[in-house]
Amino acid sequence: MVVDDLVWQSIEPWMIEIRRGIHRHPELGLETPRTARLVETTLDELGIAHSRPIAHGVRGVLAAERRGPALLLRADMDALPIEELNDLPFRSEIQDRMHACGHDCHTAMLLGAARYLKAREAELRRPVVLMFQPGEEGPGGAVPMIEAGILDGVEAGMMVHVDSDLEAGVIGLREGPAMGSCDDFRLTIHGRGGHGSTPHQGIDAIFVATAIVQAWQAVVSREQDAFDPLVVTVGTIHGGYRENVIADRVEMTGTIRAMSPAARKRAVSRVAEVADGVARTHGARVEFVLEAGYPVFMADVPWTQSARRILTEELGPEAVREIPPTLGVEDFAYVAERIPAFCIAVGIAGPALTTGLHSAGLIVDERGLKAGAAALAAMALRS
Ligand SMILES: [Zn+2]
Ligand SMILES: [Zn+2]
Repeated sequence: MVVDDLVWQSIEPWMIEIRRGIHRHPELGLETPRTARLVETTLDELGIAHSRPIAHGVRGVLAAERRGPALLLRADMDALPIEELNDLPFRSEIQDRMHACGHDCHTAMLLGAARYLKAREAELRRPVVLMFQPGEEGPGGAVPMIEAGILDGVEAGMMVHVDSDLEAGVIGLREGPAMGSCDDFRLTIHGRGGHGSTPHQGIDAIFVATAIVQAWQAVVSREQDAFDPLVVTVGTIHGGYRENVIADRVEMTGTIRAMSPAARKRAVSRVAEVADGVARTHGARVEFVLEAGYPVFMADVPWTQSARRILTEELGPEAVREIPPTLGVEDFAYVAERIPAFCIAVGIAGPALTTGLHSAGLIVDERGLKAGAAALAAMALRS
């Protein structure tokens, strides 16, 4: 089994060291120069060729001369604008920035897999492309790397993501619709102001806003198939001046999450339509601005099934679980729209974990790194 290879005894602490170094210096969005440089330096040390398809994204390649389509392995490198609460020796050194989504772990795992694979490069049956991307938490690093040709000659793509619901050492798999789509919106309601004692002389934008919020939930509960999940959340609502003034304007923002492209398309148009219809009914007018986000992540069924078989053999049956889908999003979904792609959830729950991902108190059980790296390496060797 790959996971039992004695070489992990030296790779594992090396990966943890890399992960802690990245954790101390989190970078945001597409601006990950330090992490990209670290990746390049490490690939140089390993003797792995690399290039920069985009400003702060790195492409490495193993067994480049091998014929046949490549397998792409992806790690993201960006952090979140969160102030870290943990008092660890490798705590984030930059205020209001933290690797709270575990992308520090992903980068370290992919480097660990690269080091392992370099030693067994002669056994690789196909080229292996390493994709280190920035901007996963927004505005998206996958699309610019795809446009720069990262998928050229690639047959399938594999990504890892840490999972705080799985214990360290365990990996999770999900085929089909695995992660949701995300579309954010801003709605401005234009009514007409007036005195609070004479609402009939104005058009109350606050009243219209409440009617729209209610009507949107009917789109979810009365129009949507209960077996095809949909969430519409209003996250902010602002309007009004004082207690006795009819508000002429309200602004709301929210997010639409769906688990199928059809539900997504329908929900986006219904949210806009219903807002318009309800506003008209009450004599108001709306402006609806949609900010389309990541699509549904469709994990390829044959590839996920083959990963289940291979990883059960290479990590042991007790280390492989089925996991539920999530309405969280992932920009690797754009890769999955173009080629077969799948995701491995990597358990990082340990005794110190009390909160989940995107939380200022996230404490990763670093024993998970070895399982993630071994999964990447095993798929590269055997698929
Ligand atoms: Zn995240
Ligand atoms: Zn993430």
